[in-house]
Amino acid sequence: MPIDIEFTPLLHRRTKIVATLGPVSSSAKTIGELIDAGVNVFRLNMSHGDHASHTEVFNTIRQVSNQKKAHIAILADLCGPKIRCGLFENGSINLLPGEQVIVTTREVTGKQGLIPSAYHQLNQDAQVGTQLLFDDGKLELLVEKIDQTELHCKVIQGGELKDRKGINIPNCEISAPALTEKDYADARLMLGLQVDFLGLSFTRKAADIELLRDLMDEFDRPAAIIAKMENHEALINADEIILASDGIMVARGDMGVELNPEEVPIAQSQLVLAARKLHKPVIVATQMLESMLTQTQPTRAEVSDISHAVQSGADAIMLSGETAAGQYPVEAVAMMDRIARLNESYQWQTDHFRSLQSHSATPPIALHHAVANAIASLSLDLQVYCVIVMSQGGTSAAVVSSTRPSAPIVAASPKAATCRKMNLYWGTVAVETDTDAIEAHHKLASNLANEVFGANPGDRILLLEGFNINPNQHSPAITVLTV
Ligand code: PEP
Repeated sequence: MPIDIEFTPLLHRRTKIVATLGPVSSSAKTIGELIDAGVNVFRLNMSHGDHASHTEVFNTIRQVSNQKKAHIAILADLCGPKIRCGLFENGSINLLPGEQVIVTTREVTGKQGLIPSAYHQLNQDAQVGTQLLFDDGKLELLVEKIDQTELHCKVIQGGELKDRKGINIPNCEISAPALTEKDYADARLMLGLQVDFLGLSFTRKAADIELLRDLMDEFDRPAAIIAKMENHEALINADEIILASDGIMVARGDMGVELNPEEVPIAQSQLVLAARKLHKPVIVATQMLESMLTQTQPTRAEVSDISHAVQSGADAIMLSGETAAGQYPVEAVAMMDRIARLNESYQWQTDHFRSLQSHSATPPIALHHAVANAIASLSLDLQVYCVIVMSQGGTSAAVVSSTRPSAPIVAASPKAATCRKMNLYWGTVAVETDTDAIEAHHKLASNLANEVFGANPGDRILLLEGFNINPNQHSPAITVLTV
């Protein structure tokens, strides 16, 4: 059988692109170019920069998105209990294999042989025999003795250790609280600006998410919460975390240090499926196009990695350093867009995205699930042109999207904030519509199908409406319409 590679990339990419902003990409011009290249969500990493610079970039994104009439969402990524070393006298030190060094929890400036830990309970959480990994696991120390604030360590893997690099302690339960004082301050800043998503690094259990929800009570508009899954504890508690959050991120950078590297893809596959089953969006992150930090072309392995994430049905794929600090930020987004659209075309033509339906679950299943399954079936059986979802808070759109219907989704909402949130969902184009137009829903559905996807008279579409923010008032209806 000949192998066919002649697929025309899909016109409307289903998998969304999240791009991290940084020094090379925070100007209005580059933000505009990144949106044109295909970004759906911008990520601000609170580990870098100060409140003034984050506010400026936040406002620039909103301005440029408004000019382009694009519902671009903003995800502010909180540092969480990420452990870091402190500062060094000359910005860095050198660690030599076999050398004895001290890691201290005292508030000091580091120097050759002395590494300050910015986390002051490290001496209580670590034990003799604990492995300390620095800078994404590039450097390794072994704790040999603990004397009050001083951890006496042997260097196993040496190299240069720079200011504020991360420290990972695999298999160690860290007693640090889920939200640090800095996280509270950063979250308050971002909630005040009406950010769309807050990412919580090193989420370990559902209660961590609840802490962040409690903080939101102080604000008019809550943000959706993305739990970053990056260590053993998060994997053990995956289901409760997914249920408590509004979506998850497979944060493979730290995960690849906390777990053995070969375990990461296995965790990724299961997390993507688990999130889809619970109707929550899932982002696959980190090192997707790492070589494009300095090269115009990705490696074959990177292209395969993105293809795998797309074919597994992740809602979104994310760029970090590539767009924050790389030499080719716009080219990296354009490359991701090309890879995703070609893979999706292949998937569409071979198995229509293998729409996930929970027929195997024992009935009665939840109303949202049942209705979403029906949409996925009808979408395939009737080969509809698109699915229109009327969504107030975004839940109906999330549920329909999670079944990965063969037809693209237009989600209409009268709220701009809901539209931005829905822009993370797989296959979903969000459209802001005024409330009166939603009343005349059949006409609106036909118009949207035509305006967004170019449906022509005679094309069949599906309309889903009737889900309410108050579950007691759900009266869902699926209508099959002809444009
Ligand atoms: C990761 O660890 O993969 C990640 C996305 O988090 P951060 O960029 O904060 O390290």
